[in-house]
Parts: sequence; C-alpha cells; structure tokens
Amino acid sequence: MILIVDDKKENLLSLQSLLTLHSYAVDTATGGEEALKKVLKNNYALVILDVQMPGMDGFEVAETISGHSKMQDVPIIFLSAVNTDKKFITRGYNSGAIDYIAKPIDPDVFLLKVNTLYKLYDQKRQLNQMQMSLRSEIEFRKHAQQESYEKAMELRFVLESIPQIAFTTKPNGVIEYHNSQWMEYSVYTDQFPETHPDDPDLQPEMKRIVAGNKTVQLEVRIKKTTGSEYRYHLLRIVPVVENKAIIKWVGTFTDIEEQKEASRKKDEFLSVASHELKTPLTSIKGYVQLLERSLEKENTNHLFIDRALTQVTKLDRLIVDLLDISRIENGKMLLNKAPFHFGKMLRSCVEMARQTYPNYQFIEEGHADVTVNGDIIRLEQVLINFLSNAVKYSPTVREIHVICRMLPGDRLLVQVKDSGIGIPKADQALIFDKFYRTDESTKNFQGLGLGLYICADILSRHQCEYGVESNEGTGSVFYFIIPFTNAPAGGN
Ligand code: ADP
Repeated sequence: MILIVDDKKENLLSLQSLLTLHSYAVDTATGGEEALKKVLKNNYALVILDVQMPGMDGFEVAETISGHSKMQDVPIIFLSAVNTDKKFITRGYNSGAIDYIAKPIDPDVFLLKVNTLYKLYDQKRQLNQMQMSLRSEIEFRKHAQQESYEKAMELRFVLESIPQIAFTTKPNGVIEYHNSQWMEYSVYTDQFPETHPDDPDLQPEMKRIVAGNKTVQLEVRIKKTTGSEYRYHLLRIVPVVENKAIIKWVGTFTDIEEQKEASRKKDEFLSVASHELKTPLTSIKGYVQLLERSLEKENTNHLFIDRALTQVTKLDRLIVDLLDISRIENGKMLLNKAPFHFGKMLRSCVEMARQTYPNYQFIEEGHADVTVNGDIIRLEQVLINFLSNAVKYSPTVREIHVICRMLPGDRLLVQVKDSGIGIPKADQALIFDKFYRTDESTKNFQGLGLGLYICADILSRHQCEYGVESNEGTGSVFYFIIPFTNAPAGGN
C-alpha cells in the first residue's frame, strides 16, 4: 500500500485517483503526526510526502521515519511546489528520502517512479524474508548440531562408566568411538578385537549386521592383548534410529565366560547323571515287563505292575530326552540318513498313537507317498512328540488331525492339529527353545520343555522348515516341511 501525505485535500484526491486508476492500494494522511501514526501501525511500500505542511513539515516527518528502526526501510518521495532549489533538495535526501519530485508533476514520470520504487520495495521485502528464513535455518542447524553433540557426549559418558567393552560406529559400521576397556582387547582403535579362529571375524560380520538393519546378539571368544586365554563374550549391537534412519550403532561385549563354564558343568552333570540312570532303569523296565508277562491275566497285582510300567516308561522317556540334549550340546547327535517311504513311517506313528491313546481319535488327511532321505528313527521321534503333545495339551477335545500336503519344489507339508489349550502369541517364537514352557502348561501339565527343542534340532538337520500356528484356547497346528525325492520307496 502507498501512503500519500498532504495537507491539501484536493492534492490528496488527485494523486489518490491517479494511483488507484493504476491499481495501487492507497492510504492518505493530512498531516505529519497522522502520517507517523499510520506508518508505525501499517506496512507501506512507499510514502509520498508533501514538503510544506503546517505543524510538522515533510522533512521532519522523513527524519523521524528514517530514524526509527521499525520504519526506516520505507522509501519516501518528496513532492514540493516551492522548495525546488538545491539546498532544499539536499535536505530532502539527507532526511532519508530516495526521490524528490517538483510540482506540477508529470503523471507518466511520477507513475514510472512509483512503479520502480514499489518493485524495489517488494524485492527488498522478499530478500529480507529470505535472509530471515536462512538465519533461522542456520540457527536451527546449529542448535541441532549442538544437541546431537551433547547427546553423543552423554552416551560416551555412559559407555565409559559401564564395566563392559563398549563402542559406537557410524551408520556404515565404521568404528567412531570405543571406551577405555576396548584397549585391553584390541590394539587398534578402528578394528574389532580378534576372535577365536572358530568364531566369526568381526570386521566382515559388522558389514553383515549393517546390511541386516537390526539388533544382533552373538557369542564370540576374544582374548586380552596381553593374554592367551580366550573368554566368551556376548556381543550385542543395537541400531540407534532417528527419523526412521539409522544414525549410529551401539555395541557392547559382556564377559559371559563364567556363565558358559557353569552351563558346561551343568550339561556335563546332566550327561553323566542320565547315562548312570539309564542302565539301572533299563534293567528295572526289563524285569517289570517280565513280571507282567509271568502273571495270570486275572491276578489283581496285574494292575499295579501295569501302573509301575507306565511310570518306568515315563522316566525312561525323560532320561532319553536328557541324553539327547547332552548329545545335541556336544555335537554328538549323529543321524543315520537313508531313503525311506515317508507315508509308511507316518502311518505306523499314527497307529502307535492310536494304541497308546485309545480315547483319542486320529484323523489322517492327504497322503505322503514319497521317499525321504533321512533318519527314520529321529523323524519318527519328532512325529510321536508332536502327536503326544497334541494329546497332552488337548485334554477335552479328543480329536487330532494329521494332515499331509505336497508343496511346489518337491516338499511335503506335515501338520499335527489339535483343538486344545493353544499357545499365546508371545510364547510362539520361543516354544522350540530349550526348557521353554508356557505358564499354562507349567501350572497344569507335567513336562520339562525338552521335546520340541530336540525336534527342532532333528528337523533343522533335515533341512526342514518348522513351526507352530496357534490361537490361545482354540488349539495348535505344529508343522514341518520336508524335502523329498520323488520316487516312492515302495508301498504306501
Ligand atoms: P513339555 O511338553 O515336556 O513341556 P515340549 O518341548 O514338548 O515339552 O513342549 C514345550 C512347551 O510347548 C510345552 O510345555 C507347552 O507349553 C507347549 N506345547 C507343545 N505342544 C503343544 C500343543 N500341542 N498345544 C499347546 N501347547 C503346546
């Protein structure tokens, strides 16, 4: 908007109509004081000032405007009929005006000047705005930089205070910081400690971790630079995410040698104890079986012997599981792989389940007329485990489905489905872990939580995918997918 200041109404009117005709927004003031009030309150692109006015004259108004920080950028043009000699023109410029026009004005020249000044003002305003936003951008960045520096310092302080070896890396895995504990295990500030020859080399491992984009935990053996004894450490590397992007990785090595040693001792004890228990138990089982056969059917002691045999069989199962665990831990679970007819094996397992659990119905769906190259006894063990779990954890709905389906790529899907207690979603990922049991089964069912762990080991060594789909309260489907060779090994 343009402000015209003149004490004569007719001058105001004629300039106003000239400018309005050329699409300028115009405001007017009839005296110096009124003009100053308006300039303070509004934003004008240009002020056209008459020099000769009663009270405050144009020069004073201009001097006040250019001396005031809020108003000093407003361009001023003087209009004067009287003071056209050099002295007055000089005063006009000195008081802050950027042009001086003598009356009577030439409308074309006047409009050209107004137009140019208007444009200049607009450009200046835009430049100012740009400068302001640049300034605030710089401020913002400075602030963010300071903040992230402070955060990094805080993190370093924390990492320095913990007993573990700790480090941070850039998003690409290049080490940027490590605490002082690091130097006990690595002589280099930019290279990971050397690992045991049987453990992964951490330099390439870090590249894989970066590519994987998620938290990683692994056990590695490292040794002090001054020693020769490797100690187990748990290496945990976590991405730090900001605005959905990884800005760094934070890692720690925790010494777990003592836990490892305790666990080794426990495994050793379990292995020795189960071996020692197995021999007398096998003899007891044999004698009880002989005793059972030697008794007449109607003998009342038959029932007790039968019960004793059930308990001995349970104990035998437990010890076999414990022995299997120690074999897995020591890498001594050997597989005798040979081609066999999977369908026949599956049928005999289901038959065995029917005899063992006469109160349950086992429904077979689909067929498995395929040859599998595997350890038949161990795969039987998996199926029997799935079937006996289905029975155990489905005490009311006594119907179990055994389903087979061919999948593309010569693979067979085998499912054991029950309608029992089911497994809460949170437990499903852990159910194949050693000793893992759900709260519900710990409260209401006997068991050690070893069966599925052994199954998982057997299945993964047969290149099988396996898992569970379940809903709490409505039942579970335990499944595995096993590769087969197409030719059946005979029979069905
Ligand atoms: P155990 O049955 O001796 O506890 P497993 O390793 O066979 O050991 O099973 C581990 C856990 O998995 C069980 O304790 C139980 O919580 C859960 N589970 C296994 N099978 C089923 C099933 N069919 N339905 C519900 N829960 C099951």
